[in-house]
Amino acid sequence: MTSHFEPSFDFAQKLDQEDPLRSFREKFVFPQHHGEPVLYFCGNSLGLQPIAVRDAVNAELDHWGEHAVEGHFRGEKPWMYYHKFLTEATARLVGALPHEVVVMNTLSVNLHLMMVSFYRPSGKRYKIIMEAGAFPSDQYAVESQVRFHGFEPADAIVEVAPREGEETLRTADILETISRHGNETALVLFSGVQYYTGQFFDLKAITEAAHRAGAYAGFDLAHTAGNLPLELHEWGPDFAVWCSYKYLNSGPGGPSGVFVHERHANSPELPRFAGWWGHDEDSRFRMEKGFRPMHGAAGWQLSNAQILSFAAHLASLNLFDEAGMNRLRVKSLLLTAYLEYTLTSARDRGLDFRIITPNESNSRGCQLSLLTGPEGRALFDRLTGQGVVTDWREPNVIRFAPVPFYNSFTDIWKLGKLL
Ligand SMILES: *Cc1c(COP(=O)(O)O)cnc(C)c1O
Repeated sequence: MTSHFEPSFDFAQKLDQEDPLRSFREKFVFPQHHGEPVLYFCGNSLGLQPIAVRDAVNAELDHWGEHAVEGHFRGEKPWMYYHKFLTEATARLVGALPHEVVVMNTLSVNLHLMMVSFYRPSGKRYKIIMEAGAFPSDQYAVESQVRFHGFEPADAIVEVAPREGEETLRTADILETISRHGNETALVLFSGVQYYTGQFFDLKAITEAAHRAGAYAGFDLAHTAGNLPLELHEWGPDFAVWCSYKYLNSGPGGPSGVFVHERHANSPELPRFAGWWGHDEDSRFRMEKGFRPMHGAAGWQLSNAQILSFAAHLASLNLFDEAGMNRLRVKSLLLTAYLEYTLTSARDRGLDFRIITPNESNSRGCQLSLLTGPEGRALFDRLTGQGVVTDWREPNVIRFAPVPFYNSFTDIWKLGKLL
């Protein structure tokens, strides 16, 4: 693919002119650097603010001011049902049936709630298989769950690590580990796109291997939702969780999404930590004893919706519906390939780094991770000083994530020039 690219500014501009999604850039707020929009490559960490969010949040503030408690039942979007207004768009985003998804809480909380239901060690079957070097919050969640059940993390957590001299995982190694520990494994828990390397795992193959082994399969899609099209219903994991403030552009601390496969939709016997919002909607306000979960993922809710952050999330999800995840992916493939070309050209001119993200486009989203040499930190600091927003991950990785919603090919050309 890279061979089609040319280094000129005109070429970058031509790609922008041919981009059917180019107008979406104007729907986002860019931080400024010396009066110019920054070159923002950090949507993997915090997505830019959609302009529509301000009005959406203000509308809820007005609704609160005007109606106070009656706001739960009045208006176009009564707060009482607010989580439902996000369901359809969320289902489209991750390839799920509407009753398989719900928006609630925040990510690490939901990971715990899902493990309460789907990490149920019994007898010999108590292990969790996950990728080595998972996001720290996930590691802490898993360690603490394992200890909660009376096991030792060193024994109960099986990590799949890259081979000597390699940076990313081979699918064959993941599947082999699952089958080797098969009859001792309770849960296989992987990220979708790995936050550090940018590798996108084969979620379908991992799910099938977990199920063959008699274990549950769950995914943390924090870096995946809004980055790649997903087919969660078809791929069949038991659960998945994600956050909304990275590629989903819904604001700092935004709410989390949860997927529970329909095979568990009607399982009141599945252990779970319950709250009133997960209780059968028709009898919720009778305030009676005896928890009866709602059908599907909604039955895992604890609390009533965080309206202000849900409003921001809804405004952002509307943009995903407008652009379409598949069209975003088409642009993303080209944008990331162009970034790869641009970075590789800089390396050929003597910049010291290696791209550790797989170069096979099916095995990555938009992020490219650069493993830098001794000058890495200085390079990162110089870029920051020139209005390029990326992020640094210890010990020596710079992550670049060109986001198809708001990054242009010209952004990448400008980055190349600075490099
Ligand atoms: C971003 C991220 C988190 C953050 O969790 P919060 O509960 O939203 O703070 C957790 N896990 C992964 C894999 C992440 O990428």
